[in-house]
Amino acid sequence: MKRFFVFISAGAVALSLSSCSSRVPERIQYSGTAMGTVIQQTVYTSARDKTVLEDIQKRLQVLEENRLSWRLETSEIYEINSLAGEEEGVLLSEETAEMLERCLEMNERSEGAFDVTMGPVVRLWNLDSWAAGKESGDFIPPDTTALAEALAHTGSSRLYLSGQDGRLYLPEGMALDLGAVGKGIALDEILNYLRENNEITGATISVGGSILTYGEKPDGTSWRVGIINPFDNSGFIGVLSLKGQWCVSTSGDYERYVEAEGIRYHHIIEPSTGYPADSGLSGVTILSRDGFLSDALSTACFILGREKGMRLAEQYGAEALFVEKDGTVTMTEGMKPFYTESQ
Ligand code: FAD
Ligand code: MG
Repeated sequence: MKRFFVFISAGAVALSLSSCSSRVPERIQYSGTAMGTVIQQTVYTSARDKTVLEDIQKRLQVLEENRLSWRLETSEIYEINSLAGEEEGVLLSEETAEMLERCLEMNERSEGAFDVTMGPVVRLWNLDSWAAGKESGDFIPPDTTALAEALAHTGSSRLYLSGQDGRLYLPEGMALDLGAVGKGIALDEILNYLRENNEITGATISVGGSILTYGEKPDGTSWRVGIINPFDNSGFIGVLSLKGQWCVSTSGDYERYVEAEGIRYHHIIEPSTGYPADSGLSGVTILSRDGFLSDALSTACFILGREKGMRLAEQYGAEALFVEKDGTVTMTEGMKPFYTESQ
């Protein structure tokens, strides 16, 4: 179910050594789950102790459980949602306040396309469950009255984030949903961990559709991140060759969706209608140094479409690649040196 695969050249020989150790970096791998998706880690480390993989997995679980989940009662976002309508608001942690500020800025710059208050609408569609086969029977799209009612409880402009006392005021009936940025935030969290650990010389970590590359491979070759073909998920339309630290996120209509009467209903919602976005795209891939940005922009650009999406990515200094529904691939100038089309 992954949109990306990270290719590590088989039998890589460690040619470059870690600056702080005379040991040859060893490649270790791990696969786990968090945030409703698969986490795949490949890490090159010269440490004798190989707990790094479990440490990263644990960090992601803690991030989900304590901060980001809108499903688990233990998290800050859950608390915010359950206190919607309370006059005194909710006191935010510094990290959550900063993250929400960035979300609000993205909402403004994307002219409302990116909106973390889509919770009530996302819940109504329940597409995660349908796409995962957890629901039985025939899928029926929400009726227009229910959709209008859910939409009436959305809108980032209705949030009030007080910089002075660090409180958030969320009107009654509204709910935050961090599905569009959670995996990117996870990449930033992992990056902080990797930077603290001198013995790690290189790594690629994928959290669902978001991938982090870090450091270098012992043989000095590039990290290779395949971009899945939206029309045939078993193949790639192309590959990004990357060196050092990058975050790559993709949003598309071909992974979390359900079909009914010949119509595909996917999970990325156009806030002005409450229906799955239909901007002529099948997929958008963003390349950025920053995980939050790569993930937030992939969702925003998918909703905005090619032209507006390209302008938005450029505003943030990120690179973008668009796959249109007719298969046309376009990208920002800065993406071109990294991209090789599959034959
Ligand atoms: P992206 O394009 O990055 O994001 C799409 C998601 O963003 C949608 O699924 C929706 O959640 C949200 N969204 C929709 N429209 C908009 C919009 N206009 N603006 C902003 N956001 C929008 N999935 C499960 O099946 N079960 C779980 O228990 C589960 N737990 C999760 C916990 C966390 C902390 C996170 C971050 C994700 C979790 N998920 C879970 C997955 C989540 O529900 C989304 O499906 C997933 O994050 C989508 O990521 P993406 O990269 O495919 O798409
Ligand atoms: Mg996203």
